[in-house]
Amino acid sequence: NFSKKLALIILVICALVFGLSMYREASFLDSLMFAVALAVAAIPEALSSIVTIVLAMGTQKMARQNAIMKDLKAVESLGSVSVICSDKTGTLTQNKMTPQKVYADGSLLEGEDLSLVNDVQRLLLKAALLASDATNNEEEGTAIGDPTEVALVMLGEKFGVDEESYRAQHPRLGELAFDSDRKLMSTMHKFALDSNTSVYDLDGIYTLCTKGAMDVLLARSVNVMTSQGVRPLTEEDRRKISEVNNQLSENGLRVLAFAFKEYHNCEECPQLTLEDENGYTFVGLISMIDPPREESKKAVADAKRGGIRTVMITGDHKVTATAIAKQIGIFEEGDIALSGVELDKMSDEQLAQQLEHVSVYARVSPEHKIRIVDAWQKKGKIVSMTGDGVNDAPALKKADIGVAMGITGTEVSKDAASMILTDDNFATIVKAVTNGRNVYANIKNAIKFLLSGNMSGILSVLYTSLFALPVPFQPVHLLFINLLTDSLPAIAIGMEPPRKDLLNQKPRDPKEPIMSKDFMLTLLVQGGLIGIFVMMAYHIGLSTGGAALASTMAFATLTLARLFHGFNCRADASIFKLGLKSNKYSLMAFAAGLILLNAVLFIPAFHGLFMIADLSWANVGAIYLLAFIPTVLIQLYKLIKERKA
Ligand code: ADP
Ligand code: MG
Repeated sequence: NFSKKLALIILVICALVFGLSMYREASFLDSLMFAVALAVAAIPEALSSIVTIVLAMGTQKMARQNAIMKDLKAVESLGSVSVICSDKTGTLTQNKMTPQKVYADGSLLEGEDLSLVNDVQRLLLKAALLASDATNNEEEGTAIGDPTEVALVMLGEKFGVDEESYRAQHPRLGELAFDSDRKLMSTMHKFALDSNTSVYDLDGIYTLCTKGAMDVLLARSVNVMTSQGVRPLTEEDRRKISEVNNQLSENGLRVLAFAFKEYHNCEECPQLTLEDENGYTFVGLISMIDPPREESKKAVADAKRGGIRTVMITGDHKVTATAIAKQIGIFEEGDIALSGVELDKMSDEQLAQQLEHVSVYARVSPEHKIRIVDAWQKKGKIVSMTGDGVNDAPALKKADIGVAMGITGTEVSKDAASMILTDDNFATIVKAVTNGRNVYANIKNAIKFLLSGNMSGILSVLYTSLFALPVPFQPVHLLFINLLTDSLPAIAIGMEPPRKDLLNQKPRDPKEPIMSKDFMLTLLVQGGLIGIFVMMAYHIGLSTGGAALASTMAFATLTLARLFHGFNCRADASIFKLGLKSNKYSLMAFAAGLILLNAVLFIPAFHGLFMIADLSWANVGAIYLLAFIPTVLIQLYKLIKERKA
């Protein structure tokens, strides 16, 4: 878009100059020469490759910091992200589940005393083990698998339920895998329970063990298991179970519920469908703690400082989610937490009205994520959304920056994302956004450098054509500058390290064009300044040695002034504040440019190709002095501005 606009502006200027020369009754060829010189001076020939190089280097740096960008162009939107929607489990939290309190048969079990475990509680532990997908690693004494599942195996071991032998006694005969829509997982085994809740084998009886979200499972239960046997669930039971669940969740604990269902008089193991997950006998709850990642709190605060809103999106319970969100600073006084069910009841208008206050979405399904992204986008925000499951793919595609999890994420989600976190860490997103801002700012500064330099060329050509003086630059001069001596400092500017105040600014308005009024003014002023001194050198050459010397002087001064100008364009701050050595590349680029220029000026073999006239030492002195003055003036201006601020 930027290139198109630039091309149009340059074409118009060239046509103007050509017309002007013809009007002045210069020959057709001369007029054409002016127009061509001007076009070459104006077009930043190396711009697109420089932008690509800077983007590639930027993404390489991000990859080293655990954020892989799949699409170079996405870096631009990354820098303007204003809302980060993040999963809770594993992204904001550590995903290290440690089992905590266990509830069954009307009482909470907290200690590790085996004698405290009653029959129903023991049954719960066994059921948890059977329903878990994790396996024990005998050698290392740790379980492997999803941390939620691992916690269950750990818990069983803690209370002396041996994983291996128990699973061998009751092998898994069927299963319905967990998904975050249903929030349940079921396994089928062959056993039965007597009235004392002890487990025994009986031909013809199969049992479905289901674990999942408390609210989902309790709603599907009709009976409850007590030490006196199974009896119908009363309203009082339901109230009590919900109350315990709330109490556990308020401490930020993740709660899993467990339930059974027996199949009698079966000749063989019943085939399972999702319809089977109904009519349960409720057993109890197992809670586990998943502490926030240590970096999360600071990352949320950093994002906030940078005008970026963090929103938590989770399949977990609302109370648990809110407790964790409070701990890491996402949920603040006056904020709202919404559940998926509440979200479903709201119209798009109602959601739009409340959106800014909602910082936690709990018990949501992947489809809700699309709605949340959409609502924010309608408010003109640039939204980043995380996801790991297959069902998350559409939301990742819809978001401006879809973020997939490198460790726990599915291939489908990685395909749909534009960024992959190799450490699954929320803090990495904030870091990547900061880097994105830096890359964008650097590219903008590199463009400023290239175009302000070109502007000095344009103004010089315009000046000479207006006063009917000889052409100041040959096309080869301008190509030399644009392709060689200017491209290295431009890349160096693109490598400028991030400044600390990068996160003190609001996100960039994505609609704001690169060529803002301020930007154009800078081009004009800085380009004009350099142009004035280039024309001084030109006139010195013209008066002492004629057109050839004038052209050599103008070319050399322009090249050198632009090399100096590279330091001005590193950032808005003065070089004294930035430090000369804080960007080694800019020093290296300057040195390389200097060598190239002096080679062309002083090695006679190049004189023919580059149309260089012989220079006296006085000429060389004048070139260096005149080329340096614009940078001195620009730096002085920056210093004064800094003093005032
Ligand atoms: P999140 O990853 O945002 O915490 P999930 O979709 O993984 O959300 O989980 C949602 C709910 O599903 C959890 O609160 C829990 O009750 C239940 N759940 C999570 N993992 C499992 C599992 N492996 N088996 C059964 N239920 C689970
Ligand atoms: Mg999960």
